[in-house]
Amino acid sequence: MKVELLRQLPSVENLLQTVDATRLVAVYGRPATLEAIRGALARAREAIGAGKQSGATIAELLAAAEAQLSAVTAPTLRPVINATGVIIHTNLGRSVLSAAAERAIAQAARSYDTLEYDLETGKRGSRSTHVQELLARVTGAEAATVVNNNAAAVLLTLTAMAHGREVIISRGQLVEIGGGFRIPAVMEHSGAELVEVGTTNRTHLRDYEAAITERTAAIMVAHHSNFRIIGFTTEPELVELSAMAHERGLLLLHDLGSGTLLETADYGLEHEPTVGESLAAGVDVTCFSGDKLLGGPQAGIIIGRKELVKRIQRHPLARAVRPDKLCLAGLSATLLHYLKDEAIHEIPTWRMIATSPDDLKRIARRWARRLTRSGIRARTMPSESTIGGGSLPGATLPTWLVVIPHASPNALAAQLRAAETPIIGRIENDQFLLDPRTVLPEQEQLLLQSVLQHAAVDAAG
Ligand SMILES: *Cc1c(COP(=O)(O)O)cnc(C)c1O
Repeated sequence: MKVELLRQLPSVENLLQTVDATRLVAVYGRPATLEAIRGALARAREAIGAGKQSGATIAELLAAAEAQLSAVTAPTLRPVINATGVIIHTNLGRSVLSAAAERAIAQAARSYDTLEYDLETGKRGSRSTHVQELLARVTGAEAATVVNNNAAAVLLTLTAMAHGREVIISRGQLVEIGGGFRIPAVMEHSGAELVEVGTTNRTHLRDYEAAITERTAAIMVAHHSNFRIIGFTTEPELVELSAMAHERGLLLLHDLGSGTLLETADYGLEHEPTVGESLAAGVDVTCFSGDKLLGGPQAGIIIGRKELVKRIQRHPLARAVRPDKLCLAGLSATLLHYLKDEAIHEIPTWRMIATSPDDLKRIARRWARRLTRSGIRARTMPSESTIGGGSLPGATLPTWLVVIPHASPNALAAQLRAAETPIIGRIENDQFLLDPRTVLPEQEQLLLQSVLQHAAVDAAG
């Protein structure tokens, strides 16, 4: 009986000759289609052998092959709608780039370019020329260079400045910033010897001074990132540290973390240390991210004194952490927005920060009205959005949320995550919530349609 069923299965050749298979070959190519067809046949044989199936038609086998092909070729890096209200959401790709940055990246992708080519001499140029002047101009630094992220910037800076020597850091700054990135671990990999001073909550200038030996190369200051110590705390001011470090012939290095060129306090937030302040305090080398509050592509930016930046650029490790042309194209376009004083309007991260509670209330009400008209009794409520990305820990911005009624908020969240363009919302107090702050205007219709489709099932039942 089984033998008979097995004999009745079509051959690979039979299947390949069908119109459907021809279509699959056109879409997915012959080798992948052939493999998928063989796989479908093997599974059918196995099922028959196990007595679980009484044969498979040509249509069934090709459908199984197509399902496999479509699963294998579907991209895993997919666009989503961020309705969490967390602006710099590291898991969701941090910064959405400006339209100009997007165009610059597309252009760099499409064509050969002057990445390392000097048009005047016809000889080899340097890839760091493309952003270093722009960076120096917008930050006010003497010199600048770019690597592929801030973790690499810190690693490279420490390696080039302090390999085989001691670097003093406060115990209050030995933080882990998420994703397993620990400041002390990175410092150790640089070959610099870590000298911890002070306590978690209090470190004084004299603690640093007492730790200085003839092997000390630098003092390092790291932003606390997503961590905040409150209450009985002390850390010396950057200016005090820089004066003391320079008096003792040491360098002062600063991992600023997010780094911002704009004043966050102007937008109802707490003050986040700025790149300008780091420089003004006399820091020798400052590192920060390209895709946090700067609002650009993933990058690590290193700015500081000319001879030090040169030394960093010439270090062999620099080659291993250099940025690619897409990054440089996107970063240049992003920095230009700052130069042209249009960052608030052009850079999505800042546009989201600057959106007023009144505007958010208007959007939330529009969404709630639209959903209610279609039978989902959504309502709005005031709440808070967060910045994320290790900047401004604990700081929030007032926002308005849309509450979607549902018997099981977790089930609704799972359904919306499974949508063709997944929607990531928030669940608080057993309610499913949407924060309009981080939803891009062009995603609004899609978001509402998806919510209507999935939440309506519950409303009807
Ligand atoms: C985010 C952060 C980093 C790492 O930056 P990436 O660009 O993610 O590599 C390093 N230090 C601090 C303090 C940070 O906040």
